[in-house]
Amino acid sequence: MADGRQVVEDRAPYVGRFAPSPTGPLHFGSLVAAVASYAQAKSQGGRWLLRIEDIDPPREVAGASDEILRALEHYGFEWDGEVCYQSRRHLAYEAALEQLYQHRWVYPCRCSRKMVRQLSERGIYPGTCRHAAPAEAGSFPFQGYAMRVLSAGPVRSFRDVVQGDVSEDLQREVGDFVVRRADGLWAYQLAIVVDDAEQGVTEVVRGADLLASTARQIHLQHLLGYPSPSYFHLPVVMGDNGEKLSKQGGAPALTAGDSLPVLIRALGFLNQPLFGLESAADLQQFWLEVFKRWQADRVPSLPSCRPRI
Ligand code: GLU
Repeated sequence: MADGRQVVEDRAPYVGRFAPSPTGPLHFGSLVAAVASYAQAKSQGGRWLLRIEDIDPPREVAGASDEILRALEHYGFEWDGEVCYQSRRHLAYEAALEQLYQHRWVYPCRCSRKMVRQLSERGIYPGTCRHAAPAEAGSFPFQGYAMRVLSAGPVRSFRDVVQGDVSEDLQREVGDFVVRRADGLWAYQLAIVVDDAEQGVTEVVRGADLLASTARQIHLQHLLGYPSPSYFHLPVVMGDNGEKLSKQGGAPALTAGDSLPVLIRALGFLNQPLFGLESAADLQQFWLEVFKRWQADRVPSLPSCRPRI
């Protein structure tokens, strides 16, 4: 039966996620991503997962993970299920790397960043170790070597819900890229692709600063046989200095004051209707109202902008 109801029932249930890196406390830019991903999931009756992307200890700030969780609770976010910590997912990433290696889609590489810069002006890896795995590298998992994935393949294209059509020729514009660093740390690209697939994420909502990573992630999804989620890239929040607000850039942490005005500011940035929201009796009522009103097509299709209020 091809009526509308049948179509709705057949569609995979929506699963969204918010995936902060604990490189500092939650700031206004990450709050915007949390608000948009939450509203986009809950307005469709979906699940909203929380994943702490703590795979890069040198960049981590002590206590930031807990601080982010506390801040999200303060703003009334309610995530579904347990929080996922990437630092506990080493075996899953290694299994994915092994799967890639079985097809020889990854290879060990000993070129340093400095060497890559010397070899190519644009920092695009010229494939030096592609066909010449160093004999002393031993066998999988090639401890002490970076692992690069072949970028050859079709131009990766996708339609971003907000930003429109995007495509990237990885071979020409990126080159073979690192999925595990020589120091053993996992590259963000591999970790999130494995996690999004395992958690059944159907749509990725995040800042447009990650638009340029998406083709690499789609490439890995193809190689690993995972489905690709839909992509929804939000304009990045710019500070007064014209730069992206970022935890590493020292963006001010949100203070523990009244949460409603800050949430309303985030919704204003996302160009959502705000009337009457300030008089919500409590955060629960506020969020229910936000889910009812959320209009994804009002989110500005700009790579970045300044908050209007
Ligand atoms: N962990 C990334 C960040 O905090 C976001 C990753 C993603 O949403 O794909 O910038």
